[in-house]
Amino acid sequence: MYDFKSGLECALQLDKDDELSHFRHQFHIPKHSDGSDSIYLCGNSLGLQPKLTQEYISQELNDWAKLGVEGHVHGKNPWLSYHELLTDKMAEVVGAKPIEVVVMNTLTTNLHLMMVSFYRPTSKRYKILIEGDAFPSDKYAVESQLRHHGFDDKDGLLLWNSREGEELLRYEDLEQILNNHGDEIALIMIGGVNYYTGQFFDLKRITELGHSYGCVVGFDCAHGAGNVNLDLHNSGADFAIWCSYKYLNSGPGSLSGVFVHERHAYNKELNRFTGWWSHNKETRFKMRDDFDMLPGAEGWQLSNPPILSMAAIKASLDIFADAGMNNLISKSHKLTAYFEFLANSIGNDSIKIITPKDKNERGCQLSIQVKNADRTLHDKLTEAGIISDWREPDVIRCAPVPLYNSFEDIYNMVERLKVILNG
Ligand SMILES: *Cc1c(COP(=O)(O)O)cnc(C)c1O
Repeated sequence: MYDFKSGLECALQLDKDDELSHFRHQFHIPKHSDGSDSIYLCGNSLGLQPKLTQEYISQELNDWAKLGVEGHVHGKNPWLSYHELLTDKMAEVVGAKPIEVVVMNTLTTNLHLMMVSFYRPTSKRYKILIEGDAFPSDKYAVESQLRHHGFDDKDGLLLWNSREGEELLRYEDLEQILNNHGDEIALIMIGGVNYYTGQFFDLKRITELGHSYGCVVGFDCAHGAGNVNLDLHNSGADFAIWCSYKYLNSGPGSLSGVFVHERHAYNKELNRFTGWWSHNKETRFKMRDDFDMLPGAEGWQLSNPPILSMAAIKASLDIFADAGMNNLISKSHKLTAYFEFLANSIGNDSIKIITPKDKNERGCQLSIQVKNADRTLHDKLTEAGIISDWREPDVIRCAPVPLYNSFEDIYNMVERLKVILNG
């Protein structure tokens, strides 16, 4: 589909034709020890800092300095309603309606809050199904929910595993699990894009399958948000959560996004934990009314939020809105396909890409499996100015991010990899 060539000229031409190439200059690119820009392929772990971020955070620091508590109502961006400034743009990024989205807390915290509402086990239907190689925090969280409800965490946890000798998960195996255990499963909780293999699941297909067996379906989209077209509303999922520090470039430990499908927006019967921020905004400060729940995802908020962290998210979302999620995704397809083309042309059997080849089944990340789990390859890449990450047991994850990575980055990366592999 693309007409890639192996030389540097092709990379330079691709950058020249790239209408998003100027966005790279809106980010701080970390330097290699020799003073050159490093080749940063770690946006799947911590996205780079937009230059705008400092300005947005300074704005709030200045309002706090000048106005103190008055900043809640008289700041340039009043803090009382600050989170609302994020909602529309965040909803756009994940393909949701504004009423379905809120930014609050951190990711694992939100996973628990969602399970308070959406994991309602009974003595017959209490199991939770996750991917076999789910992100550890998600696994620990669901195990602790099982124990919290008095179930055994081994008996209660079902795994959708890959087959012997394979890395990717197959839908027919998921269908088989549901066929055998569907009426015992209370919740299906899958990583929308698997953190290890980079496999992007068909959220709609999984949701429809789960719902047909009466299961609640939620997704952890930490590796999907800002990376792939999640189309959360149309997926029909009951809930989703994601963090904002990976592809959403909002800084270490920054806040998480939550999606609760519109069909649950006005359901006051759903069990939930509440706080003053889940209460009707009009009467919140009367401080003594009976609880009056906010509709939509906002109704899951507990606390008044950390504005400095939200300022960083606002900076990032303004850039996403400017670039356009669809434009980013089409560049991403091309950039990752180019990476795959060059990496495969090295022709060295000590590395193998395990991420799906179909662009609709992956985001930007390619997971490179290293023969004999030779970690020194990753160390050598780091020495050569390439920032990627090593994940046990044997994978180097590389994520070319369309906002700030260039085709030239990819060309240089693979050239260096070639030298390291072929000596
Ligand atoms: C990054 C990531 C996390 C991290 O959770 P925090 O609560 O933000 O520390 C959890 N789950 C998945 C799937 C992730 O990719």
